[in-house]
Amino acid sequence: MSALLRRTKIVATLGPATDDPAVIASLVRAGVDVVRLNFSHGQVADHARRVGLVRAAAQSAGRYVGVLGDLQGPKIRIDRFAGGPVQLADGAKFTLDASLATDAGTQAAVGIAYKRLPSDVFAGDVLLLNDGQISLQVEKIDGPRIHTRVLVGGELGNNKGINRQGGGLSAGALTDKDREDIRTAASLGVDYLAVSFARDAADVNEARALLREAGGHGLLVAKIERAEAIKNLANVVRASDAVMVARGDLGVEMGFAELAGLQKQIILEARHQNRVVITATQMMESMIVNTIPTRAEVSDVANAVMEGSDAVMLSAETASGKHPVKVIEAMSQIILGAEKYQDTHLRVRVRNSGQFERTDEAIAAAVMYTANHMNVKAIVALTESGSTTLWMSRVRSDIPIYAFTRQPSTLCRVTLYRGVYPVAYDVTHADPEELYRSIFRQLLDLRLVADGDLVILTTGERSGVSGGTNAMRILRVAAD
Ligand code: PEP
Repeated sequence: MSALLRRTKIVATLGPATDDPAVIASLVRAGVDVVRLNFSHGQVADHARRVGLVRAAAQSAGRYVGVLGDLQGPKIRIDRFAGGPVQLADGAKFTLDASLATDAGTQAAVGIAYKRLPSDVFAGDVLLLNDGQISLQVEKIDGPRIHTRVLVGGELGNNKGINRQGGGLSAGALTDKDREDIRTAASLGVDYLAVSFARDAADVNEARALLREAGGHGLLVAKIERAEAIKNLANVVRASDAVMVARGDLGVEMGFAELAGLQKQIILEARHQNRVVITATQMMESMIVNTIPTRAEVSDVANAVMEGSDAVMLSAETASGKHPVKVIEAMSQIILGAEKYQDTHLRVRVRNSGQFERTDEAIAAAVMYTANHMNVKAIVALTESGSTTLWMSRVRSDIPIYAFTRQPSTLCRVTLYRGVYPVAYDVTHADPEELYRSIFRQLLDLRLVADGDLVILTTGERSGVSGGTNAMRILRVAAD
């Protein structure tokens, strides 16, 4: 029943560990809301097979699961070593050499895939390799060669990523592979497309244009993982439908010490602009091998929930971990635990400008104010695009919001919105009394409310029109 519904959603990355159809079915039953296809790994056929399995499992469980395609983006990487990984000692010299053959790396030098890197870096810069495990100080640029001194050494393997501390490496956000993957994402009908290493609004707009050109309907997620995106945060958020706090690369570029503050700032900005926000990376990292989370992980997930994330994300924990189903179950319990202590029934906040720009936004705010001050069991929004439920879900509340829609894309899209649950429903009733009776029947059949409960319904005068919501009604459920 509604009291036990988890409001914060779970995004789980698919990978080799979830390829067994029985595992996918268990993930869906355990409550995954959105699955993530990581285009950095795997072939088109892998992604297509995984989407097929998820959709089949969701259908047989009577659930809706959204699909998020995550582009690889312009991650700058070193090339390969001739004899396998090398050990870099603290204080040693090491050269990043754009003129070296791709698999001719040695203890002294390695090639770089991004040939313009030598003109993007300067003496004194600190370069971070392998997610910050190794750091190199640039001493001199000599044509295609970047001469460095190892500040913190360790083992360095093939194709590891390179970041500059403080950001500013200039590779554009969309690579040729990303453009190809956008076409794949469109053909798979993804509900969300995530743009890795977005720097500004233009990067998100370009990805959106390419997705639409390829026939895709998905919403755009900007991954906030570059120093430039932090500088342009308000604009990047405005250009996107959702943002991801991509703590892995963000922690490398900005330094891990500031991550908690940056996370808070990104979540706040997203909520101020009525955008959706996902908190990601290493949330349950120890469960890649262990069967229970560390106490620090429990606290991290709970904190992301309490800060107002719409969703929390799992990466390697589900894609290649040993316990993909257990980790979903544990994360689900932590979210429920955190939501018990959440401040709910907060005052409705009028958007930044102090004025509502749209009628459906004004209705949504009025609904949430009313619901939070009345003993309402459920909110039902008859919706086409889901936008009314998005506005509603920006207001903290513990009252479930049901998106009643006939649109398959909306059913899957709202899976990411905090506190919003999709219900397939076709509005075919012109007579209001008949409409209410049919909605009550659906709510009672799904055991979402009981006879006599109070619900709030939002509708538009002309049903089936996106953005047309202009009325709210307070109704008492009556079984026929
Ligand atoms: C991250 O860097 O935190 C992230 C989510 O991106 P990816 O998993 O693609 O590295």
